[in-house]
Amino acid sequence: EPAIIAQEVHKWYASNKFHVLRGVSLEVTKGEVVVVMGPSGSGKSTFIRTFNALEEYQKGKIIIDGIELSHDLKNIDAVRREVGMVFQQFNLFPHLTVLQNVTLAPIWVRRWKKEKAEEIALQLLEKVGILEQAKKFPGQLSGGQQQRVAIARALAMQPKIMLFDEPTSALDPEMVREVLDTMRSLAQSGMTMVCVTHEVGFAREVADRVVLMADGLLVEEATPDEFFNNP
Ligand code: ADP
Ligand code: ADP
Repeated sequence: EPAIIAQEVHKWYASNKFHVLRGVSLEVTKGEVVVVMGPSGSGKSTFIRTFNALEEYQKGKIIIDGIELSHDLKNIDAVRREVGMVFQQFNLFPHLTVLQNVTLAPIWVRRWKKEKAEEIALQLLEKVGILEQAKKFPGQLSGGQQQRVAIARALAMQPKIMLFDEPTSALDPEMVREVLDTMRSLAQSGMTMVCVTHEVGFAREVADRVVLMADGLLVEEATPDEFFNNP
């Protein structure tokens, strides 16, 4: 069974009748890495945000790991447990340490004991290469380090699927590589990933499939080789 099934998803804004998603369908198999590309405003972010119910939609069907997330957002909690997300802005809690940022949701949402949450958090911080920063506050870290904390924080909830929404777009160029390397190793570990990114190198080397959106539609779908080598 696929990890994500999106069928004919439509979303429009009543206020200005803007039809941001005009029937977008996508299936992502378990362990697959899909990169979503396309011009700004084409609906990429809106589309992937429907997968964890950060966006409502008006028509269509979304099934996450076998759980149907109907457009009235039934099953929202069950789906959100399966789906981790990393944003352009890291959205860390500034007054909490790195370690506290990562353990917060496992302790309060998953009801894990502090010791267990910290043990797992430290393993994740080591994996993303920032174990030494565990006691620091986000403001004391570089952008690239903060984004790796955000990745560790999402992984701490043990999601089956990870969504990335332009995770390197807010970073200085010298920080981009360390975040992409973290994403690459996550992909190699078998995580199912959907990534909105303009990073062509990442798409070429890591994606199993590249999809192109334009004007609220999915207009092309190909392997990276096909996608980047055929004009
Ligand atoms: P991308 O990720 O491809 O840049 P988005 O998914 O962010 O595209 O596209 C969002 C589009 O929807 C933009 O054109 C934006 O102006 C429009 N939009 C977002 N929120 C609203 C809203 N509340 N009302 C009307 N249009 C909106
Ligand atoms: P980004 O591209 O940074 O993801 P957007 O420009 O799509 O963000 O949207 C930023 C905020 O502005 C969102 O809360 C969105 O709902 C709102 N917004 C965007 N476009 C419109 C619009 N045309 N009308 C009303 N609200 C909008």
